[in-house]
Amino acid sequence: MTDPRDQDRPESPEPDPAWGSEAGDVAAFWKNLGLPGLVDVHTHFMPPNVQAKVWAFFEQGREGNGQPWHVRYQWPEDERVALLRAFGVRRFSALSYPHKPDMAAWLNEWAAGFAARTPDALRSATFFPEPGAGGYVAEAIGAGARLFKAHLQVGAYDPRDKLLGPVWGLLAETGVPVVVHCGSGPMPGRFTGPGPMSEVLARHPRLIAIIAHLGAPEYGDFLGLTEQYSGVYLDTTMAFTDFLERIAPFPVGLRPRLADAGGRILLGTDFPNIPYSYVHQLQALARLDLGEPWLRAVCHDNATALLGL
Ligand SMILES: [Zn+2]
Repeated sequence: MTDPRDQDRPESPEPDPAWGSEAGDVAAFWKNLGLPGLVDVHTHFMPPNVQAKVWAFFEQGREGNGQPWHVRYQWPEDERVALLRAFGVRRFSALSYPHKPDMAAWLNEWAAGFAARTPDALRSATFFPEPGAGGYVAEAIGAGARLFKAHLQVGAYDPRDKLLGPVWGLLAETGVPVVVHCGSGPMPGRFTGPGPMSEVLARHPRLIAIIAHLGAPEYGDFLGLTEQYSGVYLDTTMAFTDFLERIAPFPVGLRPRLADAGGRILLGTDFPNIPYSYVHQLQALARLDLGEPWLRAVCHDNATALLGL
C-alpha cells in the first residue's frame, strides 16, 4: 500500500545488530495483519536532560509497585528513532510533560525542533495549569501541534483548575487530541481516577481525550467514558503486558466491552521507557483473542482516521 504522504518519510534504516530479531518480529506482526505498518500514539521523546531524569526515576523502581523497572531502550535519540522506523512504526508521538510551572513552553519549543528533524513524528505539545497556558497552547496549535499530553500524576494538578479552562476549551474547539494520564496506575496521584477528568468532559463534551494506559486500573470506568462521549479514546500503553497484569490486571469480564470499544482503542506503548520489549506489547494485544479486525483497527486504522494521517 503506497500512501503519497509517505514520500517525505525517511527510508528504513540499515539493520543494526543491537536490534536482534526484534525488528523482524514487530514487522511480522503487522505484515501478518495485512497492515502497512503501525501507528503508536504514546511514545516519548524529550530533551536529553529531562529524558535522563525520567530514566533514573524509573530505575529507582518506585513506579513498578515492587517490580524492578529497568528501562530497556536507554539509547541516544537517533538510535531510538531508527529502531521505531525499523519496527515499521509509520507515525509516533513525542510526548513530554512538565512536573512544575514554567516548563511546558520550553518543552514545546524542544518538541517543535524534534518534529522538524523527524518527519514521521507527530508534532506533540503539553501544558501546565499556569497563567499563559491558554496562550502557549494556542500558539502550539497554530504552529501545527497534532497531539498534546497531560500527566495528572507527575504534574500533580487538578484538571479542573480554572487556569486550564481555556486549554480544554481550545483543544475541544480545534479537535486536537490530548493524551491524558489520569488513571491511578501504575501509581495513584491526588487527582487521578475517573472523577476529575469526567468533570472536565462534562464541561467540554467535544474534547478528544485519549486516556493513557487504558485508564488502568480503573478500566471499567474509563471504558464507560468511551461509551458516554464520542471523543474519548483509550490507548493501550502497558495494558495487558505481563508487567502491568501483575500490578493492575485487566478484568476478563470487561473483554466484551473492550471488543465493542474497538473503534476507540489506539496502540500506545510508552517506548522507550518500558521494562520489556516493544513486541511484547503487541503480543499482549494479540493474546486477548479479539480477532484480526480489532487488532487492525487498534494498531493502525483508528489512529490514521483520528489524526487524519
Ligand atoms: Zn507514557
